[in-house]
Amino acid sequence: MIKKKLLVITTGGTIAMKYDDEFGVIQNDELTAYLGNFPQIRDIAQIEVYEFTNIPSPYITPETMFKLARLVEDKILEYDGIIITHGTDTLEETAYFLELVVTTHKPVVFTAAMRSESELGLDGPRNIVGAVRVACSNDPRNGGVMVVMNDEINSAREVVKTDTGKTNSFVSLAYGPLGIIEPDKVIFYRDSIIQEKIPTDKIETNIDLIKCVSGMDDRYLQCSLYHGAKAIVLEAFGRGNVPPNLLPAITTAIERDVIVVIVSRTYTGRVLPEYGYEGGGKSLKKMGAILGGDLRGQKMRIKLMVLFGRYKDSSLVRKYLLNGN
Ligand code: ASP
Repeated sequence: MIKKKLLVITTGGTIAMKYDDEFGVIQNDELTAYLGNFPQIRDIAQIEVYEFTNIPSPYITPETMFKLARLVEDKILEYDGIIITHGTDTLEETAYFLELVVTTHKPVVFTAAMRSESELGLDGPRNIVGAVRVACSNDPRNGGVMVVMNDEINSAREVVKTDTGKTNSFVSLAYGPLGIIEPDKVIFYRDSIIQEKIPTDKIETNIDLIKCVSGMDDRYLQCSLYHGAKAIVLEAFGRGNVPPNLLPAITTAIERDVIVVIVSRTYTGRVLPEYGYEGGGKSLKKMGAILGGDLRGQKMRIKLMVLFGRYKDSSLVRKYLLNGN
């Protein structure tokens, strides 16, 4: 059987780190060579490795994500699929960014490690083998941007890092995994129905995310407005309700044509125009805020960066969002 040809793009993260007595867990440059001599993946696929960066994922910026997306668009033409190794901290943001802007239907599989090379029970090698097996799967549901960790396949849109240290940290809390990786085969249980594509040749990074907490005032909102944010994502309470002290600044934002998107700080579920009291979702909608459906805050921020990059004009972005939710 002809083996599929895959490109592994490395970006850094714990999967490329080791414990050092003086500094703690830090990057090293062994991953590329390691992948080059990894029989469990060589047996399954033809692999080439490309080091894109070697940085901890808290250093990844939207500009880095955009460059990575362009690299994937270029390279995917030559390969049957792409694996991307990434730090776990911001993996869900990069994966979602790529899901929105990369148009290929071939598999683009993110993977990572919660444990560095120096730790007992390291998960990196197993996750890489899992990602390669998924990228090689002939299941018709295989394709698009996925995240493989801990023998599970998750959708880039749905998955979140839920735990600081456990190897089962990556979970699609609301909908469950797309599939699982068993010793004998890869099994897809479902498709990710929402396959939103927003190809763009630009992004707008001046988009803020503010989390609501009880008794807060509008300092962060004022700060965003002062710095000319094009849109502000408010991670509101429950169904999409905010403390009343935020209302004057929300009004100012809307008057200045700054898009205010309400999402929930809860872990799953949609926001809805349910509560009519001042600051409730229904009154926020009346004021002109947009309710952002079931996307979590960090992903809505990424989506707005991409939307503003593509449409530039806030009325077009507003229209897009209102149609989508
Ligand atoms: N701090 C690391 C990073 O995101 C965590 C990891 O990769 O697990 O780069």
